[in-house]
Amino acid sequence: LTRDPRLVDPFGRSITYLRLSVTDRCDLRCVYCMREDMTFLPKAEVLSLEELARVAEAFVRLGVKKIRLTGGEPLVRKDVMTLVERLGAQLGAGGLAELTLTTNGTRLASFAPRLRAAGIRRVNVSLDSLAPDTFRRVTRLGALPPVLDGIAAAKAAGLAVKINMVALKGVNECEIDRFIAWCGAEGHDLVLIETMPLGDVGGDRTDLYLPLDAVRRDIEKRWTLVPVADRTGGPARYARVTETGGRLGFITPLTDNFCDGCNRVRVTCTGTLFMCLGQEEAMDLRAPLRGGDSDDGLEGAIIEAISRKPRGHDFVIDRWHRRPALSRHMSMTGG
Ligand code: SAM
Ligand code: SF4
Repeated sequence: LTRDPRLVDPFGRSITYLRLSVTDRCDLRCVYCMREDMTFLPKAEVLSLEELARVAEAFVRLGVKKIRLTGGEPLVRKDVMTLVERLGAQLGAGGLAELTLTTNGTRLASFAPRLRAAGIRRVNVSLDSLAPDTFRRVTRLGALPPVLDGIAAAKAAGLAVKINMVALKGVNECEIDRFIAWCGAEGHDLVLIETMPLGDVGGDRTDLYLPLDAVRRDIEKRWTLVPVADRTGGPARYARVTETGGRLGFITPLTDNFCDGCNRVRVTCTGTLFMCLGQEEAMDLRAPLRGGDSDDGLEGAIIEAISRKPRGHDFVIDRWHRRPALSRHMSMTGG
């Protein structure tokens, strides 16, 4: 299959990866992601499952090879499996090489077999603590056992699991060794993520910011990390942990610049295409979606947007004003 040359940005980067947010809603309220009293979008603003599918299919026609469904929490969207199954049908001959999702895991136990049947082979599960009290404190609403059951069910269904852990100062830094050992034993990849200044969360996130370069130096006092070359166009840098055989990744948007190899764009659940997680440049796809039956306008809008993809982001935690550098929440763009 040849890639459609129209999805090459001004810096020569081919856009092959779409992250699609299917809802802004969530059953948790993680402290770094949402306000406790979060107001969600009116339903009319959110794309229908049909519209989400049309967006995804347009990207596939334009050469996107990988789609990640995210949110909010994708598995709280009613009938989300109809979307997953429709996109699953694009795998292989349809031109899509991988369909995956990022989830908080609360409902994964019941969904795992159907996800696998729809063609999903890997899931990212966000998990910040293996201690029930800390898990509750970070998610404000969550209980740990259903998430652990969900992770076990995913593994049992034959899905590869990557655990995403947001490293939070004074909250879960003491659990990092436990995560490395647990993920190694279970065969899950582990990715540590720095908190990013996105959206008003109703508190002071700079208190939670933990620079991962220091975390890595500390980890290396006890574990042997052998860098793995593969960066798959993503922001994570990977190492192999000799003692466990497991893979450990680091996502450090604040201390590292990963923009040069960026191959991805994001679409929110309202149909706004963001060309860069850290910039405001955006293109509305909802108007062309709702404007008529033909997808020509939709494809044209996507192509035009890619021609304006910015070179890189400019995240700074503004310690003086203590305001988020970007006003939109991660649950809008899906991380
Ligand atoms: N609800 C799903 C979940 O939690 O996996 C998918 C959406 S969530 C917004 C996607 C990822 O973004 C999660 O791994 C979450 O930990 C991460 N995230 C959210 N807000 C963040 C922030 N301010 N800084 C860094 N990561 C963040
Ligand atoms: Fe929900 Fe995921 Fe945000 Fe946590 S990180 S509040 S689970 S969307």
